[in-house]
Amino acid sequence: MKGRTLLMIPGPVESEPEVMAALADPATSHVAPAFIEIFGRALERLRTVFSCPDGQPFVVAGSGTLAMDLLAANLTEPGTRALVVNTGYFGDRFGDMLARYGAEVTHLRAPVGGAPTPAEVDAALSLRRYNLLTITHVDTSTGVRADVQGIAAIARRHDVLCLVDGVCSVGGEALDMAAWGVDAALTASQKALAVPPGLALAVAGPRALAAFSARKTPVASYYSDWSLWLPVMQAYEARKPAYFGTPAVNLVHALEVSLAQIVAEGMAARVTRHRRLSDALKGGIGALGLNQVPLRPELAATTLTAVYYPDGVNASFLPKVAAAGVILAGGLHKEIRDRYFRIGHMGTVRPADILATLGALETGLAAAGYRFDHGASVSAAQAALVG
Ligand SMILES: *Cc1c(COP(=O)(O)O)cnc(C)c1O
Repeated sequence: MKGRTLLMIPGPVESEPEVMAALADPATSHVAPAFIEIFGRALERLRTVFSCPDGQPFVVAGSGTLAMDLLAANLTEPGTRALVVNTGYFGDRFGDMLARYGAEVTHLRAPVGGAPTPAEVDAALSLRRYNLLTITHVDTSTGVRADVQGIAAIARRHDVLCLVDGVCSVGGEALDMAAWGVDAALTASQKALAVPPGLALAVAGPRALAAFSARKTPVASYYSDWSLWLPVMQAYEARKPAYFGTPAVNLVHALEVSLAQIVAEGMAARVTRHRRLSDALKGGIGALGLNQVPLRPELAATTLTAVYYPDGVNASFLPKVAAAGVILAGGLHKEIRDRYFRIGHMGTVRPADILATLGALETGLAAAGYRFDHGASVSAAQAALVG
């Protein structure tokens, strides 16, 4: 079938047909009763997906970077002290953004492929007083997953707000905002929630909302200002019309459909599926003799896999994999950009996608002249999947 490919990058990802169908709805008013009901349900389901029963969800048209802005702009004032627990590209971005709003930013970094430990965060927070810290749950540039649960507990002990960039984790990795003491978290529609790009999603817990209320200065971003969005989100959840900026009506419907599927699967089952498929894929990668960017297996995310090219192979092999039907992503982290590639496996991913990806990967590697035992990765993954 000409033109049919499998998109296996760390966002945008493939969506279910029911989700795509929602995008083709006839035009609707953003204050039509049927749309108000859809928006209200989407907000309620976000509470479940983020596991934050007493949190305030925000759904705003924009990409994941706007979702970061929805936290940064509202929780930062000139002089705010922020610790960025940095595991790559998106930690740098969060730091830049907080600084733009006047924060004094300190980065706690790890070598590429590593992650600061809760003990290192504890030491940093003991050294001086901070108002907030940020963690990238899964840094999409390294495939590293940070210990959000451990770090959030440390943040709480130091009475520091804990903000989580979950763009590459929410809906794929375990995240329990309420139980772990995460004060605010964010994601975007096009990653593990399996909706096309275009929606910024955030949930603010009670302590984040209290910090917002205690601000002494106005929010420096107009579009991100919670005081403009809060009445809108509250109205839709109360099934009442409201307006500040026109919602992306079709995308909100697609989100509502996907969230219903996610809640029906169950968060625990979804996390288990991602873990199982990730283990199978990573086993296949190992069987080809390829090394991954995360320094230790327990640091590796289950939503994507970051792999170093073997000797003699470079980014020019990715079009060969694409010619075999599977789209993969190149590198992003500035220190290693040309030395690795990335495979996204989040959202709707299923066993057949993993096997197809490894098959296409082998085809690309063979075309690039890399020598390996043909079928080894598919065989290892299949053994893991049926085992
Ligand atoms: C993709 C991503 C972002 C940015 O999202 P955009 O939709 O590209 O703006 C931020 N953080 C992480 C961890 C991401 O994976």
